Amino acid sequence: IIQMRGVTKRFGNFAALRQIDLDIEAGEVVVLLGPSGSGKSTLIRCINLLETYDEGDVVVDGIRVEEGRALRQVREEVGMVFQAFNLFPNLTVLDNIALGPVRVRKLSWAAAREKARRLLARVGIAEQADKYPIQLSGGQQQRVGIARALAMEPRVLLFDEPTSALDPEMVGEVLDVIKGLAGSGTTMLLVTHEMGFARKVADRIVFMEAGEIKEIASPDTFFTRPESERAQAFLDAVL
Ligand code: ATP
Ligand code: MG
Repeated sequence: IIQMRGVTKRFGNFAALRQIDLDIEAGEVVVLLGPSGSGKSTLIRCINLLETYDEGDVVVDGIRVEEGRALRQVREEVGMVFQAFNLFPNLTVLDNIALGPVRVRKLSWAAAREKARRLLARVGIAEQADKYPIQLSGGQQQRVGIARALAMEPRVLLFDEPTSALDPEMVGEVLDVIKGLAGSGTTMLLVTHEMGFARKVADRIVFMEAGEIKEIASPDTFFTRPESERAQAFLDAVL
């Protein structure tokens, strides 16, 4: 459902991504790992054109990701959950989730709010519907962020370190929601520093370094006998 071919991204003279080739199949859960600055966020951001790329092609569900009409189409198909939850502070939890379907999918507020209630139940915080984001814990806010992304019924969900802004005791509840989505066949590309979680949910691990994909492997292979020395060094440092 996602094809990246020869994707290169430069900031000035510095290449943040070099000739990235990556395919993600529908229903797959792919975890991106790699040291800080290796290009993980940049790769994710090129998929919904939060970042433009300089060479190559990104195709999502048959649509080439580029400026213009195709971009709006792609953004409707690709949901994103950020490290900072990016909720609208002046809207209730329910309306944070309902807004996208109203604006983009042209649902009525009543229908969108009903949908939002179902999604809040799915992420385990049905009782928080009428609160404002500031009244929620970090873990609850991130679950709203996930429900908001799901409300658009995206074909693909992108996560960039969804738990790294959370206090440790709230990480588990958010990972459990993501695990549930993985189990239900949602296509996901995610960056995380939670190695145990990555090993459990990933269908494939993609290891990046210095803007390149160095290794793609099953989680068991990657975590027990990675091919590259660089991946081994990375694992030695984080495990
Ligand atoms: P981290 O694990 O720390 O989040 P990352 O793998 O997500 O790292 P990126 O954020 O993708 O790394 O950054 C890749 C490289 O591109 C880094 O060297 C970074 O400094 C550089 N970079 C990212 N965004 C910009 C920007 N807007 N302008 C200039 N350089 C940038
Ligand atoms: Mg990053």
